[in-house]
Amino acid sequence: MLKQEENNRERGGRDSLDLNLEPKIYDFTQPTREYLVNDTPLSEEHEKVLRLFEGRHTIDDVIEERGRDRVIKELEEASKYFDFAQAQEAVKEGLSLAQRINPDVAIELFPIVFLFMPRYGDAKALHGQGCAININALKPTKVSNDTPYQKIISYVAHESTHLFLKQLDKKTPPFSIRTDPLEKGIYDFLWEEGLTTYIEPTHYRHHEAFVQDAKFWIGTIQGWLKAGDSMTKEKILKDCTERESTITWFEDMSSSGKVPNLDRLNEEELDLMFLRMLTEMNGPAYHVGSYLWQKQVEKGNELKDLVMSGSDEMKKWIQEEQ
Ligand SMILES: [Zn+2]
Repeated sequence: MLKQEENNRERGGRDSLDLNLEPKIYDFTQPTREYLVNDTPLSEEHEKVLRLFEGRHTIDDVIEERGRDRVIKELEEASKYFDFAQAQEAVKEGLSLAQRINPDVAIELFPIVFLFMPRYGDAKALHGQGCAININALKPTKVSNDTPYQKIISYVAHESTHLFLKQLDKKTPPFSIRTDPLEKGIYDFLWEEGLTTYIEPTHYRHHEAFVQDAKFWIGTIQGWLKAGDSMTKEKILKDCTERESTITWFEDMSSSGKVPNLDRLNEEELDLMFLRMLTEMNGPAYHVGSYLWQKQVEKGNELKDLVMSGSDEMKKWIQEEQ
């Protein structure tokens, strides 16, 4: 998931959202069905998981917006692509991929939850407490040709890599655009989300577009960090929005499909807009970051050594690409 959002939400009462789930694989789709159909209350842990998964909207919000019958139909539709026995096999494969980032340390188990949240999100690391997968994301869509089994492997590989980084004490620190240098925020994001994406065996279809265009994006990031005025930054943003890789991605991932209006933004707002463009909706930074990891491995570096050297190395990796 997007780190920025996660950090924002952490400020809003994370203590109350500490999970007490044992480390195993859960199917929360059945209690959700009972909640929707018979009004059977959800367990406290289930409610917490849903709030950690989607902090801005509750399932009741969605019921109110779309109507209960429609939400039940959506759950039934998504359930066609979810088989809990198969899902548990896919989880094992995903975990073994995450283990690759450091084979010397056994990855500690954590709760892995399959849930149903209409509309919002595919998979999340629940603020470092586990891994949640929305079965709604297992339905076939234009953005991915993967089977549900392949999707689960990739989601688990990605989110478990975040959790394993935390265990290894290599997770990048929270970032605030107001108090931290933008460079640090972008480089840390490229490092961590680049690694989690690199570990995924299959990706959304815009991944390849950004990897092919990685040199442009690396140059653009460098150009932005050197730019000292709003006019230059406005020009860079406009160039980005006209880029073929951006258009491909936007068509797939944006609900409106339209680029946001960039007029009359001050420099701080432009910085935020640039960061959001790189990082939201599975944006370019995930895939360009993955490209940078791939390059480092191709140079003969051991993945484990790269991981254990930490995110401060990203600055050097970018310079090597220049
Ligand atoms: Zn992530």
